[in-house]
Amino acid sequence: FLKGKTALITGSTSGIGGGYAKALAAEGAAVMINGFGDSGEIETLRTELESLSGAGALYSDADMTKPEQIRAMAEQCADELGPVDILVNNAGIQHVAPVDEFPEDKWNAIMDIIMNSAFHTTKAVLPGMKERGWGRIINTGSMHSKVASPFKSAYNAAKHAIAGFSKTVALEVAQQGITVNTISPGYTWTPLIEGQIPDTMKVRGLSREEVINDVLLAGQPSKEFVQIDQIAALAVFLCKDEASAITGANISIDGGWTAQ
Ligand code: NAD
Repeated sequence: FLKGKTALITGSTSGIGGGYAKALAAEGAAVMINGFGDSGEIETLRTELESLSGAGALYSDADMTKPEQIRAMAEQCADELGPVDILVNNAGIQHVAPVDEFPEDKWNAIMDIIMNSAFHTTKAVLPGMKERGWGRIINTGSMHSKVASPFKSAYNAAKHAIAGFSKTVALEVAQQGITVNTISPGYTWTPLIEGQIPDTMKVRGLSREEVINDVLLAGQPSKEFVQIDQIAALAVFLCKDEASAITGANISIDGGWTAQ
């Protein structure tokens, strides 16, 4: 049902973003992926997306900490693939440390990648969506856009901020065929989660198993990691006409984390 539409997904060379890209391509959307990683693996994903959609797929290496690169990415997408109908702000990084020891460069990078990049992408694509009278903006939040956990001050602040930004844009375009929503997953098994295990082991003095069972899944009532495919399916639903009344929402998909 997305044939003829174009989706731009930040941070989609891996994890949840890769899941969004595949699910949207499977519905026929041309897709621009973005992020870092092994060039061979990225090219494999890009060609997989082309065969899934039967439409184009492009890769941009734009760094979400660099506003001029973000604007260039949106322009390249419009020029070479099509104007952006579906924007997914998904790029994210994590750093785990007590706030009084939190490195300034990590603080700034998290704010730029999670929060500020969404402003720059949204600003770049919104005029075209308004002109065409249709658009879907999906921001990846987190249970940490609603509640906090210790040692993640930058991440929690940036995720609360993107949820607030999302609501604001939703209100501004509520009568123009454009919906803006946040999807807030609980712990999902991706490289981002795997990567924070060593730091959490160090900060809390725990073994790998203890971090997984007693920290990561401790607050997740389902005691199961969320699956990437489940999150991607929700994003696909938000693109449907049936979802046109869902806007300004921050939808949890977290095994019950934020019900507590
Ligand atoms: P991931 O590490 O697998 O993917 C992150 C993506 O962002 C990668 O493609 C990476 O290359 C890209 N990226 C990082 N820095 C970038 C930069 N400067 N410019 C452009 N791209 C950059 O992580 P993931 O778990 O799939 O996370 C995706 C999103 O989901 C993030 O916003 C994350 O906060 C959120 N999230 C994840 C979980 C989880 O449990 N995994 C839970 C809630 C929310």
